[in-house]
Amino acid sequence: MYSYSRNIVTVDVSALQHNYKVLKSILGPEKVLLAMVKADAYGHGMVESAKAFAEAGCSSFGVAEIGEGVELRQAGVKGDIFVFMGFQSGEGGLFFEYDLTPIVFLKEDLYALSRLGQEKGKVIDFHLKVDTGMGRLGFFADDVEGVVDTAKELPFVKLSGVVSHLACGDEPGTSANNDAFATFQNICDNNDLENTILHIANSAGVLNFPQAHNAFSRAGISLYGYYPDGSSGKQYESLPKLEPAMTFGTRVLQVKTFPAGKGISYGHTYTTDKETVIAVLPIGYEDGFSRGLSNCGEVLLHGKRARVCGRICMNLCMVDVSGIENVQSGDEVVVLGQQGDEVITADEIAAKCNTISYEVLCMFGSNNKRQYLKK
Ligand SMILES: *Cc1c(COP(=O)(O)O)cnc(C)c1O
Repeated sequence: MYSYSRNIVTVDVSALQHNYKVLKSILGPEKVLLAMVKADAYGHGMVESAKAFAEAGCSSFGVAEIGEGVELRQAGVKGDIFVFMGFQSGEGGLFFEYDLTPIVFLKEDLYALSRLGQEKGKVIDFHLKVDTGMGRLGFFADDVEGVVDTAKELPFVKLSGVVSHLACGDEPGTSANNDAFATFQNICDNNDLENTILHIANSAGVLNFPQAHNAFSRAGISLYGYYPDGSSGKQYESLPKLEPAMTFGTRVLQVKTFPAGKGISYGHTYTTDKETVIAVLPIGYEDGFSRGLSNCGEVLLHGKRARVCGRICMNLCMVDVSGIENVQSGDEVVVLGQQGDEVITADEIAAKCNTISYEVLCMFGSNNKRQYLKK
């Protein structure tokens, strides 16, 4: 398939590796940092990112679906691969075949895994998911004892870790965090789980809560160069800065000068108030440039900011380049990243469309051709 596009996402491999090393340095050499590479590594490319982290010393990876784990193995990724979202009937054998570790949140999955283990003559390690306040997957504290007992009775499953997830790690002052740590501690104490591998910290947990630095921590967003609270990371002044790994760029399609009083794009939600030079760009919501950025998004051209005029279309949008000299068809446009002295971050874009950097990265990364930069 011919796949040239003017729109290119560039992933800086050394930035991924830098971020891994920064987070690992917070935890120290004894602790394991598990790289969350679900969602195609937040749009950065699952296999390429896992390999980049592996080169930097990472040997534990997390994915949502079992098929992602299989893909990592088929691409030659070694180490531990944890599958966080269970499996469907008929898929359980893949854990054995590809040496993947399930995170278990359903009792019936334990029976299924044990039956498969018996068939294959192999004991499978699993980590137990507990809900300490996230209100998402996992057993409630009161149900853990029963599950642990069940696991003990099943000869082909072995409980080797206990996992939970923080709902409010990016708001360090919130009491929900201490509640979660206390609940997690109680679950571990009451069920004699202190000697299994514990993990509760996500990126925010690694950055904000030393008390959450268990044997394992799991990081996603910060490995890709962003602070979970959407800040610039100034509060972590003693740490080297995280480096955003993704940039997204395109090229101008057409430049036109409109007289005053002309409507731009669907619905004419923008009208020129004076003679206005407009650059038409080949990016739209199909490319992850959200329609929510209509009349407020910005891009960089010749090192200056140009604002979106009117609604963003499926494949196109228009920006005002009246204040930028001599813009021409083919000129480079930075949608995410730096040009000259100006920078547009995923947090800036996210704030304008009422979301978070995570979603912006997924949308750009998953909807565009990617290239990898290695220094
Ligand atoms: C996505 C995810 C993480 C990583 O979260 P970040 O905020 O991106 O660091 C950790 N644990 C679980 C269970 C997740 O789903």
